[in-house]
Amino acid sequence: MNKTKAIFLDRDGVLNKEIGDYVCRFEDFKVLDNFKALKLLQDKGYLLLVATNQGGLAKGWYSLSELEKMHKHLIDVYLNNGIKITDIFYCPHHPDFTGDCDCRKPKPGLLLQGISKYNIDPNLSYFIGDRERDVEAGNAAGVKGLLINSNQPLVEILHLIN
Ligand SMILES: [Mg+2]
Ligand SMILES: [Zn+2]
Repeated sequence: MNKTKAIFLDRDGVLNKEIGDYVCRFEDFKVLDNFKALKLLQDKGYLLLVATNQGGLAKGWYSLSELEKMHKHLIDVYLNNGIKITDIFYCPHHPDFTGDCDCRKPKPGLLLQGISKYNIDPNLSYFIGDRERDVEAGNAAGVKGLLINSNQPLVEILHLIN
């Protein structure tokens, strides 16, 4: 059976503007224009999946419905630009509030969920993030981690992806 290849994407600083620890309000959720880059990757056959730590949920800084509103908006804006974000995996935990978990990056749990759910070959896949913990999570899941600067245009790193 043929396996799928995927680009895992961190959320804040990669798909929407990084504004400090957490984006707590929908009004502050600003989608970045990475449409051209992600369209090119999609056309190469990559599935686009998001993996994001949302410890603000555990802290009570924002609600699940506020988060879902942001994610629906993210998916809609990209879809309007011809790009399908297939799934968003998030960790709702925070060690100080909910104890340890397997999914908070740098743990690879979110990526492993995606790999299993969509029958992905990690060896053909990448994780683009703006924190060292993203790269660590990627590598721990067997996908190649690519570190970018926060809010850096993704077209600048396309040459790193086969
Ligand atoms: Mg980030
Ligand atoms: Zn978690």
